[in-house]
Amino acid sequence: GPIILLTGKGQRELDIVAMQAGAADYLEKNRLDGVLLERSIRYALRKKQYEADLERQVRERTAELSLANESLRDVDRRKDAFLATLAHELRNPLVPIRNALEIMRLSENRTEVVESGRAMVERQIGHFVRLIDDLVDITRVTRGKIELRREMVDLSFVINAALEGSQPLIDAGRHQITVSLPPDPIRLNVDPTRLAQILINLLNNAAKYSEEGGRIELKVSDEDEHFVFRVRDTGIGIAANRLPHIFEMFGQADQSRDGSPGGLGIGLYLVRGLAALHGGTVEAFSDGPGMGSEFVVQLPKVDGSPTVR
Ligand code: ADP
Repeated sequence: GPIILLTGKGQRELDIVAMQAGAADYLEKNRLDGVLLERSIRYALRKKQYEADLERQVRERTAELSLANESLRDVDRRKDAFLATLAHELRNPLVPIRNALEIMRLSENRTEVVESGRAMVERQIGHFVRLIDDLVDITRVTRGKIELRREMVDLSFVINAALEGSQPLIDAGRHQITVSLPPDPIRLNVDPTRLAQILINLLNNAAKYSEEGGRIELKVSDEDEHFVFRVRDTGIGIAANRLPHIFEMFGQADQSRDGSPGGLGIGLYLVRGLAALHGGTVEAFSDGPGMGSEFVVQLPKVDGSPTVR
């Protein structure tokens, strides 16, 4: 409790020493009356209360800071892991390119060797460019600097672009893909490149996170206010506790080192950003590991379109 020092001697030095030692007040007995004592006690109690409040606030603030500190450290760890994966991903296409060049040199430019080498270099450079494009876009999405170039396009045009872009990974995994579109031709008011980019990311993930020979389904439906794009796979699925985090930047499972096919962990972050630019959303569903996954993108129909012809 608070301390009030009562004394018979009215010495100033004693007053100072008492206050420095933590006394709330110093009263001389011979000048004491009820009002003064009551006021002194009230003041001492209030001061004590104030100190306790202050201490509590400091404790709470310290806890908040240490939480913030922990989350900064977590971001830092994820950034480190990202850089390591990035270096890896950037080097990956270079190795086969160098090999192809070496093989062409050794073959003394035999036509069929040059042709297959050229195809391989082209594929790998395509991969390289996509990776760099994603990296450039990620910064733009984060800073809100991507501008949509909306235009009226046929749904089938976007779907074909998406299928073409995801073909290499789907073929590499020997997956079977089925596409189902609404029966009537549809025109969309979207940025076709960005919508294709959304679908390519989802289809590539479906291919990457499925065992060889999986089934992938791309389904587009016309639902009142929205166009809905569903990408479903029969792949490795997603644990319930991971679902809320996969759209975060660097939101990949900590798996890149144990041999599973994880990437940079920016694809879904981009997908969400690009869907949001269209005023839409993306959600992920999975019944758990081994049960496959489904990604659902909803884009609202905007002014005058998308329309059914
Ligand atoms: P990346 O694939 O480069 O790691 P993404 O942002 O595209 O990054 O995906 C984030 C994470 O979400 C992946 O690392 C993976 O754990 C999980 N994920 C995404 N798509 C699927 C899918 N179709 N099936 C299972 N897991 C998936």
